[in-house]
Amino acid sequence: MAARMPRYRHVIWDWNGTLLDDLDYCIGVMNSLLVRRGLPLLDRARYHDVFDFPVRDYYGRLGFDPQTDSFEKLSGEFIAAYDARRGECPLHAAAPATLAAVQAAGLTQSLLSAYRHETLLEIVGHFGLTGYFCQLSGLADIYARSKVALGRAQLASLGLPPDELVLIGDTVHDLEVARELGVSCVLVAAGHHPAGKLRRHHDQVVPALSGLSLLPGLEALRPAGPPGGDAAPLSPQ
Ligand SMILES: [Mg+2]
Repeated sequence: MAARMPRYRHVIWDWNGTLLDDLDYCIGVMNSLLVRRGLPLLDRARYHDVFDFPVRDYYGRLGFDPQTDSFEKLSGEFIAAYDARRGECPLHAAAPATLAAVQAAGLTQSLLSAYRHETLLEIVGHFGLTGYFCQLSGLADIYARSKVALGRAQLASLGLPPDELVLIGDTVHDLEVARELGVSCVLVAAGHHPAGKLRRHHDQVVPALSGLSLLPGLEALRPAGPPGGDAAPLSPQ
């Protein structure tokens, strides 16, 4: 491939599923709502099949009865259950070292999350990661509709040309946001969408954060320390 190697100055990170390893946690929380209503439970395969943005449609696919359970009621119940034990949810193991490597490479970083803004600030602080980000943006409510408008505001605030930015996320919605913003995108298949689905939409997909440094323009993101064993890209360019 003869394309000029991109040179990024800034990484926009997604949070849930990309830096935070909350896939199984989310499945468990949603199952607590489903079991109360006698509905079929989720496992990873079914979750990966039905989860998507906007999450209102995902809730519809789970079989809830809209006559008794409005989307707003279910969202409140899900977030209350999620927040009750969210401190138990870990980061992806390579997340701190990857953020440190990006910083050491001289790139700035920000967060663009569908999580409610105040909660995002709190949880990022809980992990001691706030200092890595020049901006943290979450949505104003709990309904996770879209990150596009928030991303546009973030891009304007950063004041960088779009071709100097790369967005790193774990879902097809992250790709949609990146395309709307005109920035590059890399997807990590360790979160809320499976590798196969991501690869149907995009060619820059890695199986784990440790694979990011194998992609063109991201070579500097190799975390310091002993080499990891899961760094092979799914779709080498
Ligand atoms: Mg995510």
